[in-house]
Amino acid sequence: MKINILTLFPEMFEPVIGGSILGRAKKKGILDVNLINIRDFSQDKHKKADDYPFGGGAGMVMLADPVFRAMEAIAAKGKKALYMSPRGRIIDHDRIKKLSEEEEIIILCGHYEGIDERIIEYWNMEEVSIGDYVLTGGELPAMVLIDSVARLIPDVLAGEESAQEESVYSGLLEYPQYTKPREYRGMMVPEVLFNGNHKLIALWKFEKSLELTKERRPDLFEKYLREHGELSKEELKILKKVESTVEKV
Ligand code: SAM
Repeated sequence: MKINILTLFPEMFEPVIGGSILGRAKKKGILDVNLINIRDFSQDKHKKADDYPFGGGAGMVMLADPVFRAMEAIAAKGKKALYMSPRGRIIDHDRIKKLSEEEEIIILCGHYEGIDERIIEYWNMEEVSIGDYVLTGGELPAMVLIDSVARLIPDVLAGEESAQEESVYSGLLEYPQYTKPREYRGMMVPEVLFNGNHKLIALWKFEKSLELTKERRPDLFEKYLREHGELSKEELKILKKVESTVEKV
């Protein structure tokens, strides 16, 4: 997959795309990240990329021309283009999954008060938000998007399993995790995890996932009740038990 990032601050991405999972994916040739400095496409002698908004108002607005030229340089017409924006629809797992299936995407990071609206209209950009709060620039939201998309590209993660079991992916929040030591300051790891019975352990994890999801994300729990795939007899029994548990007040 190729990800083109249009930004005024390309250096912000270096540590993120160079390390960890993204770095490995790049090395393996699964992910190609193309960083484009919008300022390089400014025709202004001072490399200006923003100006005052028409009609007044606070702050500066990113100019259309450098972004248009940067888009033309990567032959963007017809390609999936996203603009990171608090006005956009909040991104979720389903949308991330769809994006991970694209061959090439373009991500535009805004700054200051935002960008000239004609950029969004002409390049048919989808506005994407990472939440109902406002950040200084689109760079951090773009990194959140790239990281979550990359994890879903086949072969990016070392073990495919880890992606499947993670919170939300399976439709449920993840069960509690423990590591050594078995007892820490008097707190014990649940006994079931040591009995070597993998079926029992899997059922325990399933039950804990259900309980946590019901308590913290009733919306996801209801969705799971409606849409869950095939379950074994034991899993169905656990599901019914958790479903009928009356919430503690
Ligand atoms: N004036 C804009 C508005 O009210 O919609 C906000 C501009 S914000 C200070 C600067 C840039 O940060 C935006 O152009 C966008 O690219 C990015 N940004 C800020 N919050 C974001 C969010 N929640 N999700 C995605 N991008 C965001």
